[in-house]
Amino acid sequence: MSDYDYDLFVIGGGSGGVRAGRIAAQYGAKVGVTEEYRYGGTCVIRGCVPKKLFVYASHFSDDFADAAGFGWTVNGASFDWPTLVANKDVEIERLSKIYIANLEKVGAEVFKSRAELVDPHTIDLINEGRKVTAERVLIATGATPFVPEFSGAEHTITSNEAFHLDRLPDSIAVAGGGYIAVEFAGIFNGLGVETRLLYRGEQILRGFDDDLRNHLAGEMAKKGITVQTGTVIESLAETDSGYKVATSDGKNFHTGLVMFATGRRPNTEGLGLDKAGVEIDDKGAIIVNGFSQSNVANIYAVGDVTDRVNLTPVAIREGHAFADTVYGDKPTAVDHSNIATAVFSQPELGTIGLTEAQAREAVEEVDIYKSVFSPMKHTLSGSDEKMLMKLIVDAASDKVLGCHIIGPDAGEMAQLLSIAIKMGATKADFDATIAVHPTASEELVTMREKWIG
Ligand code: NDP
Repeated sequence: MSDYDYDLFVIGGGSGGVRAGRIAAQYGAKVGVTEEYRYGGTCVIRGCVPKKLFVYASHFSDDFADAAGFGWTVNGASFDWPTLVANKDVEIERLSKIYIANLEKVGAEVFKSRAELVDPHTIDLINEGRKVTAERVLIATGATPFVPEFSGAEHTITSNEAFHLDRLPDSIAVAGGGYIAVEFAGIFNGLGVETRLLYRGEQILRGFDDDLRNHLAGEMAKKGITVQTGTVIESLAETDSGYKVATSDGKNFHTGLVMFATGRRPNTEGLGLDKAGVEIDDKGAIIVNGFSQSNVANIYAVGDVTDRVNLTPVAIREGHAFADTVYGDKPTAVDHSNIATAVFSQPELGTIGLTEAQAREAVEEVDIYKSVFSPMKHTLSGSDEKMLMKLIVDAASDKVLGCHIIGPDAGEMAQLLSIAIKMGATKADFDATIAVHPTASEELVTMREKWIG
């Protein structure tokens, strides 16, 4: 018999924590899980899932416009924001319940309480008014939006609030140039909100392939989004109808709402990590080894709280690997290389592997294959949206090092391409693959001419 109340206690009921708790319980561990907000975590409650539903909603404006070229007349189309929010909430509630049910099904005990560590083995369940002990603790508390300090910052919203606005503003300014800023700019614009994106650097989506960044910025502008680079919001003041915003270029503008999407910070404050002796880095992320183990041998951490690759499927994989390693006798370190990702911008972006710039650093000679074209649908729709596909190939080995796509379903393509690229596919393998016609993705296996820049 263990001296502890639990073999494993998980703090955080998001994707990573729930997966770890569920698999550990299936291996026979006595598991407790606690969550202070809602089970499902950021991705399900106020991230990937509701965001994608909003992206679908915002696409209809383009779809109605495209329909005319195919003979359709859509009369009297109108959009009702409260209906979208309410329907989204129903779906989120359904998913949150599934998270709880999946834990209970395997015998894990589910708590709804904030938790703080008292020492490496003792967890204070604040809302329960009691302490529990565990042989091991897994921290999976995720991250939270970060808003820099400036005059008027208290008036801004983040993605957390964007999912619950009472009404859509007529206009919005979105600060940031990462995933969330770009995705929400597309959502608001598609829903008819006059949208401005302000980014501090030279081009949005730093870290992505430069062709993709430039192409997306151009397409967003074509859709009517004002993309303002090299600019930050310096202050904002409330007015009768919204906010007066002052920017670093010495200008002012008026907008109905200001949203900040300037990164996220690990949720480690007030967790009692100091009392347990757990080391964090300068951003507050828990420092872990390849097996998600912290410097305190019985305390582990997975997902965004460790600030490795902050994506839901990565947190899930880390949680699963933790349970396999510790309770399944299958030591598993997560491979963080070649992770495909999508940005649900409009148009969508999907990417896997090295960017052209990274490849040029990594190998001596790089071959680029690139195609910019009109998707077939737009021959009749009249839309001037262009698709971009790019393959980065190591000239010496012929290995495909990266693939970057922008256009409809780019995320779906990146997922499938990532299998080939993880397997080490060469350009010759791509060339030997017969196209599926007519598709956009056939371009990936039919590009033969090297791109001369
Ligand atoms: P990101 O880290 O992607 O982007 C943050 C943006 O804010 C960057 O453009 C950054 O600029 C800018 N920024 C940071 N600090 C400041 C500041 N003080 N003033 C002005 N601008 C600033 O964070 P997000 O919030 O967009 O998303 C958080 C994470 O969530 C992402 O990294 C991603 O891992 C995940 N996510 C994934 C999604 C997906 O898979 N589709 C969707 C949404 C989120 P700079 O580039 O110059 O540093």
